[in-house]
Amino acid sequence: MSDQLRYTFRRITHCNMCGTPVEENRVLGRRLNRPHGRHPRRVIGIATTVVRCRSCGLVYTDPQPVPFDIQDHYGVPPESYWKEDYFQMPEGYFGGEVRRARALLGDRPGLRALDVGAGIGKAMIALELGGFETHGFEPSKPFHERAITRMGIRPERLKQAMIEEVEYEPASFDFVTFGVVLEHVYDPSAAIVKAMGWLRKGGVMHIEVPSSRWLINRFANLYYRLRGTDLVANTSPMHEPYHLYEFDLESFRRHAARHGYSIAFHEQYVCKTFLPSVFDAILKPVMRLTGTGMQLCVWLRKE
Ligand SMILES: [Zn+2]
Repeated sequence: MSDQLRYTFRRITHCNMCGTPVEENRVLGRRLNRPHGRHPRRVIGIATTVVRCRSCGLVYTDPQPVPFDIQDHYGVPPESYWKEDYFQMPEGYFGGEVRRARALLGDRPGLRALDVGAGIGKAMIALELGGFETHGFEPSKPFHERAITRMGIRPERLKQAMIEEVEYEPASFDFVTFGVVLEHVYDPSAAIVKAMGWLRKGGVMHIEVPSSRWLINRFANLYYRLRGTDLVANTSPMHEPYHLYEFDLESFRRHAARHGYSIAFHEQYVCKTFLPSVFDAILKPVMRLTGTGMQLCVWLRKE
């Protein structure tokens, strides 16, 4: 799908998270509309420029490719997900997050939670088991439908909507969690600000995003450089998994200072190295020690 020339390219003026003008940012290199692979000099495609914000470490592309039809990106036939075990709740699923939310929130009566990008509702079920009255919304029609028919989510608790259009009562939730969302939206700052509006004072927001410090991307970029190209592995705005942004903790710190919240807790998840497993024994501890894991998880508190 991404091979079709169906994009407009939008120039960026400022860093989405901290507002620094784009001219002050550092060019990391170029990203094509397909994986660069092991022989990057042979790969043909449309390129855009990847930059890193010098102030907050946010990585994004300028210009930003916007598909003519968003279904070109996310119109995956959902049947490819519908294997029987996809509908099973793994033991302890989202349990760590629920426990941390409860610990950060302390003793509050009538806890209410909202899942942004609820998928088929697994985190909603975990939150309900953890004592929250849980609501959610999910943009995909088939996922929304399966959440209700297969997972038993109550229809009045789950809307089918995108974050840009959905509405809830202001200050009506204690906990908001973003599933795999923020790296896919064009305006993550606006998404956070909108969801902050739904939180009560002292409420907590949980966000997991790709880290712009991921060590494996640095290795990949070095490899592309040694092969005589200026290609980089950061972001993937025109091919799967369609990540538009990578975040740094500083991106949230700067954003917090402008939008009335603080960072209550953060952690890095090392996840995969995508290299032969012999390297894992060395690289995983290094990533843990240096904060260069694949995923960044932040817990934000509304002030
Ligand atoms: Zn920035």
